[in-house]
Amino acid sequence: MFPPKPKTKKFVYLDHAATTYVDERVEKVMKPYYGKIFGNPSSLYEAGRVANGELNDCHRKVAEIIHALPDNIIFTGGGSESDNLAIFGVTRKHANFGKHIITTKIEHHAVLNPIEHLEKESFVVTYLEPDSRGFISPKKVRAEIRPDTILISIMYANNEIGTVEPIADIGREILKYRKENNSIYPFFHTDACQAGGVLELDVEKLHVDLLTLNASKIYGPKGVGMLYKRRGVNIVPLIYGGGQEMNLRSGTENLAGIVGFTKALELAQENRQDENMRLVELRDYFYDQISKKIDKIKLNGASLGNENSRLPNNLNVTFMDVEGEAMLLYLDAYGICCSTGSACTSTSLEPSHVLTALGLPYEYAHGSLRFTLGHCNTKADIDYVMKYLPGIVEKLREISPVQMGNKKHAKYK
Ligand SMILES: *Cc1c(COP(=O)(O)O)cnc(C)c1O
Repeated sequence: MFPPKPKTKKFVYLDHAATTYVDERVEKVMKPYYGKIFGNPSSLYEAGRVANGELNDCHRKVAEIIHALPDNIIFTGGGSESDNLAIFGVTRKHANFGKHIITTKIEHHAVLNPIEHLEKESFVVTYLEPDSRGFISPKKVRAEIRPDTILISIMYANNEIGTVEPIADIGREILKYRKENNSIYPFFHTDACQAGGVLELDVEKLHVDLLTLNASKIYGPKGVGMLYKRRGVNIVPLIYGGGQEMNLRSGTENLAGIVGFTKALELAQENRQDENMRLVELRDYFYDQISKKIDKIKLNGASLGNENSRLPNNLNVTFMDVEGEAMLLYLDAYGICCSTGSACTSTSLEPSHVLTALGLPYEYAHGSLRFTLGHCNTKADIDYVMKYLPGIVEKLREISPVQMGNKKHAKYK
């Protein structure tokens, strides 16, 4: 039987880009909001006023961290909702001015799918190509701006390969265009979900008009996020109702979630420098071990040397001649969680749109694994993985029914 059952099965979580567990300190501050502080922030009596006071505090605290104003912060039901609010909010409000959007081929589906939807509503979209390591060139962004461009959406850091985009430089190019053309367009949105825990989030330095964050990637609760919206950028809501969140996100506020998100963001930003250094060291050790013990591998995304251009916790590696899914499932048998670049179901073997956009040949995109490290990980976790990974790869290379690189794949499509 392969894989053999390990004698002592550990649980090693290496998928922090998918979601994180909730930090105990976050859980603790959320708890009262399921009990004592249950009032509706819109109610006028004291219990409501108390809740409203807490809500205002959250607006203030988050605004301070990202260098914005309290009423620039719209709390939402997560990263996808914030992306949708930014994209539909801007395009539905400003369609009279223009119907051109610029984005990239490597965005999260929470950005790509709403934009694809808009293409059906006669919007025209330019999809920028990254270079082979995943970078979007600011000059290329500038070159694609047209008189009818109303929105540019480019992620801060990529969820699959960890590449950090030069958002500040792109923002500066867009500002320059607006000045030269005496225009308020195009607006600039960035999806910062993967950056929230690790990168600087100063919206002034980044020169962004809209910025998405969520809690579930930064040790906060799931189903809560925010959209930063610069004053003067008018958008329409997705959800109409009681007019909460400055009329832009109706519905009784998820105050426990918002308090949890705020605490998670505070903790992440407080500790990020030390934690980033720890993660970089751990990740580089991991990669070093992989390259020493396994042959025919390739690192995907930006090189590991430069901390400003790759998320400190991201490792995306192709193992030639192996199916990513097979590796993932074998690792799972040892209690190891990671993810793969191809979203494989029984009926399709589509490789990741991100890896494909890097120009990786089909067979490279298929044998990739993403490991994303976080708070709980130690060197012992990496050593545990390395005890099994080389054997798994070797075994799968022997038994793999699908020889990568020949066209047998086609029959699965
Ligand atoms: C996770 C993620 C999202 C979606 O966030 P949800 O809170 O799950 O809706 C959007 N963009 C990026 C880059 C993400 O990593």
